[in-house]
Amino acid sequence: MMNGQQYVESLQKRNPRVFYKGKRLARPYEHAAILPHLRTAAVTYELARDPKHAEVMTATSHLTGERVSRFTHLFWSVDDLLKKIGMLRLIGQETGTCFQRCVGLDGINAIWSVTHEMDQAKGTDYHARFRKFLERLQREDLMSAGAMTDVKGDRSLPPWKQADPDLYVRIVARKPDGIVIRGAKTHITGAVNSHEILVMPTLGVPPEGADYAVTCAVPIDAPGLTVVFGRQSNDERKEEEGIDCGTAFGVVGGESTLIFEDVFVPSERVFMAGEGDFAGLLVDRFAAWHRANYGGCKAGNADVLLGATALLAEVAGTIGNAIVKDKLTEMVHLVETNYAGAVGSSALAKKLPAGNWLVDPLLANTVKQNVTRFVYQVARLAHDIGGGVLSTLPSDADFQNGEIGGLLRKYFAGKQGSDTDDKRKLIRYIEGMTSVSTLVEALHGAGSPQAQRIVMLRQAKLAEKGELARKVLGLGKK
Ligand code: SF4
Ligand code: FE
Repeated sequence: MMNGQQYVESLQKRNPRVFYKGKRLARPYEHAAILPHLRTAAVTYELARDPKHAEVMTATSHLTGERVSRFTHLFWSVDDLLKKIGMLRLIGQETGTCFQRCVGLDGINAIWSVTHEMDQAKGTDYHARFRKFLERLQREDLMSAGAMTDVKGDRSLPPWKQADPDLYVRIVARKPDGIVIRGAKTHITGAVNSHEILVMPTLGVPPEGADYAVTCAVPIDAPGLTVVFGRQSNDERKEEEGIDCGTAFGVVGGESTLIFEDVFVPSERVFMAGEGDFAGLLVDRFAAWHRANYGGCKAGNADVLLGATALLAEVAGTIGNAIVKDKLTEMVHLVETNYAGAVGSSALAKKLPAGNWLVDPLLANTVKQNVTRFVYQVARLAHDIGGGVLSTLPSDADFQNGEIGGLLRKYFAGKQGSDTDDKRKLIRYIEGMTSVSTLVEALHGAGSPQAQRIVMLRQAKLAEKGELARKVLGLGKK
């Protein structure tokens, strides 16, 4: 397994085509906009090397018998799923933000299970190909990004009826030794600092849309792949020095848009090419695992946010106030409700035909639905306790200014004995972790609220529940 430094160096050896704010980045892994996200992902490597966290951060591969990072490990049991949630909470607590590697982790589990079932049904050989790819991922401890969401164009039309057929990633040519893909994936967490991109379909498709059912692995520096690193609220702060930048780990996952301009993918990296009837299954499996995650990682992040909010209340002298305590209690309640759902959906997992275990989809989707609300509520409470200064604090440059810096320190002082710089760090962290980017990520990451509601209704077995009501109420009996 690599350590954090080796991970960064392994990326620096690659030469992806990355754009940010109108310019191609000659050295993306040294750019101030990308560095915080690189550092956060590096923490996942560092923690895996720490014997104290070995149980949670690593696992024994069922493919090779070697000890591997849990981020490249298949879920072979309920215990593996519970440890994953524990791992997400731990790293969330260590970094206070998104550490990006879970999309690839859930992607490999989805591809593992669906390729197995696809081969059984259709006599294809995708599973063996994927097994080889996964062994390499584990051996070399590579980071993979999951690229599912297409840009989608006109949402009222299916992919093959769009005015521009490239608005969903598709196969444009089939060759004896591979396929050629074209299109774009967007909001892709951690893509720029991943070694591999796992391209997956965004929806199930009928036979006329077969070319849109494509799953494959593309190296980050593959010819024809362009990465456009996205903007965030407050992102120019990352390029400043000092307290206004926030923590070393940034905010959310450093999302990118990936443009595939006729990228050739050799056959050994292709794990679905036209089997539209299995594309929806892959999306559902991936989504269930990934939606459960949000009760783990967001709880870890919220632990830091809750701590920062309580410390700020201490500096402000309001921590002893019963109303403030009650608001902090409400934050705890919301966070632990999310965590309980993640643990519960893992505890009720079922074994799939390929041998890995799937979380309970109803509970997993309920977790994510809660996250779409609770993260906003937690942020509101942090805003409430933190006060207006979260949005009006003067800049670090003003605090450093020889003429007015002293005045600002005098007038922004907190409780006697507290440090104004620490107070500003608390304010900036709370500001970042309750900002537009963070909230939108909680709402739409792992699927928008309506996507969960569709699965929840499907999984709720209303007809069976109707029967229960009939029996208990004695309906139809005179
Ligand atoms: Fe992982 Fe959470 Fe980030 Fe998704 S939002 S990649 S689950 S840390
Ligand atoms: Fe996310």
